[in-house]
This record gives sequence, C-alpha cells and structure tokens, in this order.
Amino acid sequence: MRGGKKAAVAVELALGAFVLAVATRASPAVAPYDWSRYSVMTPAGPDEPSPEVFRTLHRVVWTEHKIVRGEQSAFTIAKKYGTTTASLQATNNDELYILGVGRKLTVYNRVGQLYEVKKDSETFERVAARFCREGDKRRRQACEEGIVLANRLPGSLLVNEYEFPRGSRILITKFAVPNFDTYHLPITGSYRISSGFGSRYHPILKRKRMHDGYDMAKPYGSPVYAAKSGVVVDAGWVEGYGQLITIRHVDGWTTRYGHLSKILVKPGQKVNRGTLIGKVGSTGLSTGPHLHFEVRNKDGKAVNPGAKIGRR
Ligand SMILES: [Zn+2]
Repeated sequence: MRGGKKAAVAVELALGAFVLAVATRASPAVAPYDWSRYSVMTPAGPDEPSPEVFRTLHRVVWTEHKIVRGEQSAFTIAKKYGTTTASLQATNNDELYILGVGRKLTVYNRVGQLYEVKKDSETFERVAARFCREGDKRRRQACEEGIVLANRLPGSLLVNEYEFPRGSRILITKFAVPNFDTYHLPITGSYRISSGFGSRYHPILKRKRMHDGYDMAKPYGSPVYAAKSGVVVDAGWVEGYGQLITIRHVDGWTTRYGHLSKILVKPGQKVNRGTLIGKVGSTGLSTGPHLHFEVRNKDGKAVNPGAKIGRR
C-alpha cells in the first residue's frame, strides 16, 4: 500500500500558468510533463481572452464575468462564452432569472457544470461519487469517463488515486439544474404596470387606498400562469377582486390573481410554476382588462411583488 498507490502529485497553479511540483512519492509511471498537458483548469490569467476567443479554445477555460448594463438574459451571456443557460445556472447555483448589474458570474466555454474543488485533498473518486451516482455500474463508469475526457485528465486516475489541488475547476458533463422554484411573473411578453404596489388614489372608489399588488395591463384573454409552484386554495368570485385565484406555496406564502375573465383551475389542484391557471379579464372593481397580482407572506401581509420576482 505504501508509496506506489497514492500518486501524490500536486499541481500548483500560479496566475494561469502551470507550475508543477512533484512530491517525493509521485508515481514513477507519470512524468511531470505528462501531467502538465492535462487540463486542471485555471482562471484565464492576466491576459484574459475575449469571449470570442473563449468560444474557440479547445481547452476548458473559465473566468468571472461582471454583468453590465444592457445584459438582459443569462442566455446572451452563455452564448457569448460558448456555454448554455442551464450550465451557468447549475454552476452559479442561481436561476439567473434577474441579472443585477455588477454581479459576478462564473463563465466558461463548455456545456456542463463547472465544479470548484474547495477543500484540499479532494480525490477524483470523491468528485465522481458526487456527480456520478445515477444508474447501474456501467452508467456510473461512463459518467466518470466523461469527466476524464472533458477535462483531458489522464485516464490513469480512474485506477490510481488522484487529488485535485484546491481551487481546481472540473467540468461535469452530466449535470442537473437544481429546482430553483423562484417567483416568476405570472404573464409573458410585454406588459405595462398600470398601478404599482403601495398607497394610491383609487380610480373607482375615488379615495386614497393601499394597493396590495401589481396591476399589469394586458389584452383581454391573455394567459395567466402560476408565479410559483403550489396548491390552489381558492378559485372563484371575491368582492372587489372579481374572479380570483389564490395559490399557497410550500413555505406558506400565497399569490393572488384577480379580475380574471376565466378560471382554469380548481381548489386543491397542484400547479407548477408556469401552469396556465386563467385568463386576463376585467371582473370586479376594474376599469379595463388587467391582472391584479399579489404576493402575501405567511401572516397574510401583502409584499411588493417586485421584491420577490426571481427569488425564492
Ligand atoms: Zn390591482
């Protein structure tokens, strides 16, 4: 057991260049220059290539991308660097539904989840166990080989123990995007907020009154979707709201969809985020077709929907 089996090869990374330090008990079968060819990924370094160059590189490279004004979707950023939205969502553990200017995202030039080794002495075996759990032995083996190939790692580490240096980035080609289930807007396409959250002068009641949600002007009959997954707790006529749907979410918060022309769900029904639940209308106290959308916390207190969109 002593010596031979454990290839204690430490690859030190300095400013994007590989500096190899081979420990005394390194496996004699692997010469240092062999290891240097393999991509234990590094930041792009001081001369950071542009996104256009990223896309053409054969080696997996990553960097941090700072979101600038005008970058509206994760899709645009993903495409720029040569990856996909799902890849960036999984790597950054964020749905990226809303992109805040100045935020930093880990970006790279491949499809897959980029895993960062955060601890010293994390072995390939450990990484493989984390990401290659599904299926029978053959599928797990295929998953492990996929990691080796995608990162141009030496095939020998499937047999010999190999420790990644802390800070290494490993591309996982078989990955799953976590279920974020954040709040989304209940309508799609363009809309106009005809009345925001907060105190306002009510056009019909002709007095100042608290407005508990968003009024989103949309043509009559436009589809209305569940903003988050949950269970329909009420669906029917409520004074003022007209035809109203209330959905309770797993954390006890609720969303309300008012003035509908059509209700397409029943109380007790489970809905996913994005399930079609009704159609925009002008029922109840309303001056024209629009959706009245509310988000309420566990105590039933109305919260500004704008503060919840894109969040859990
Ligand atoms: Zn309203």
